[in-house]
Amino acid sequence: MSHPQAAGEFLKDHPKAKWHDETLWFVRDKRDRISKTIPEWEELRNLASQIKENVLSKLDEYLIEFEKNAQANGIHVHWAKDGEEHNQLVLEILRKQNCTAIVKSKSILTEECHLNPYLEKNGIEVVDTDLGERIVQFLNQPPSHIVLPAIHLKKGEISELFHEKLHTEKGNEDPTYLTQAARIHLREKFLGAKVAITGVNFGIAETGEFVVCTNEGNADMGVHLADVHIACMGIEKIIPRRKDLGVFLRLLARSATGQSVTNYNSHFRSPSPGKEIHIILVDNGRTAQLAREKFRNSLKCIRCGACMNTCPIYRRSGGYSYGSTVPGPIGSILSPGLDMKKYSTLPFASTLCGSCSDVCPVKINIHEQLYEWRQEITKTHGELGKGLSMKLASGIFKSPLAYKISGNLMRAALKTLPKSLIYHPINSWGKGRNLPETPEETFKEWYLKNRK
Ligand code: SF4
Repeated sequence: MSHPQAAGEFLKDHPKAKWHDETLWFVRDKRDRISKTIPEWEELRNLASQIKENVLSKLDEYLIEFEKNAQANGIHVHWAKDGEEHNQLVLEILRKQNCTAIVKSKSILTEECHLNPYLEKNGIEVVDTDLGERIVQFLNQPPSHIVLPAIHLKKGEISELFHEKLHTEKGNEDPTYLTQAARIHLREKFLGAKVAITGVNFGIAETGEFVVCTNEGNADMGVHLADVHIACMGIEKIIPRRKDLGVFLRLLARSATGQSVTNYNSHFRSPSPGKEIHIILVDNGRTAQLAREKFRNSLKCIRCGACMNTCPIYRRSGGYSYGSTVPGPIGSILSPGLDMKKYSTLPFASTLCGSCSDVCPVKINIHEQLYEWRQEITKTHGELGKGLSMKLASGIFKSPLAYKISGNLMRAALKTLPKSLIYHPINSWGKGRNLPETPEETFKEWYLKNRK
């Protein structure tokens, strides 16, 4: 389904779409308010962007430095060129441990690699321990937002789901009650898991340690109880020095949820006696994106989700309408790099208002890259109708006479033609939007009449 089609489905439930829009705007507003309490906010954004610029220019060196230091700390380091290799590596580690059930904290990378279905197909029970992720996992759905995975669901829906899955009281929608039920359910899973999987927010080249940020402490709970910790990290998550971390931690939570800091920022440096830590460094299209000069700085992304919360299209079309693991403005830049044809409608899912670039903590020029993708895509997968109309418009705009005649013709046509013809599928501009009311006179006519 293309983005406009999927967005159309989402918008059929108008009250829910409105609620979705308002809920995300509330988060955006919180982000605005807290960012204004930091006088050096813009300086932090510049600094974060520059640190990431440096990382991207020497990514290979930092990764090797990270590997060397992590190994010296006793961490097993693995490399995966794509999702398949990543999944196989995880399975191999699990098989060596005779492990049949794992707990996993939030990791967009494992979603991107489709790790859950792969492990389940191979007989491993996977329990997502982030509350929002557990909710969507119960529904066999992917997350609809990278920070707020179940943001598309209302508490009534969650209450019904928990009644069915966790036997909570029917109709009880109290969030504290529902959270408590999830907590009891998850505790049992934590206690039984021999292996815990986490994502990685930052890998520090200088020390070989990595940092995992969660609000629920679920990553820590899983890792501390398990014998083996597998951390899955996209290769762009490297930062050079530990002292750089403060810049990103100050930006991340404020941009994501409007909190001053994420509740748990856990550093993993070396395994405890008798335990193992494995880290898998995953490419999966990242080096290809690095080679695309116009799009390479999309790899600066720290996955805060702020561009989604502010985007008028994301808020009104929902995360699933993008059909990709990372939705919203940043997903619309990353996904066409993975499969341009499949995701060809995503860069068009934007008003190009630039709000995404304005809120991005690492100053990615998101809306400019969306515009660049549009041009790339139009060359190879452009709509024939739109291409022809643009050529026709170009001819008309070049000639004042042709402009005048066609203007008169179009005004007459819009007034008299039946709607079925005006909104015919070949009219790309009539899809999903109402054409403007036809004015009684042209601007030129009005001007000639009214000039003094
Ligand atoms: S592109 Fe920027 S705003 Fe969007 S998720 Fe990434 S870091 Fe956050």
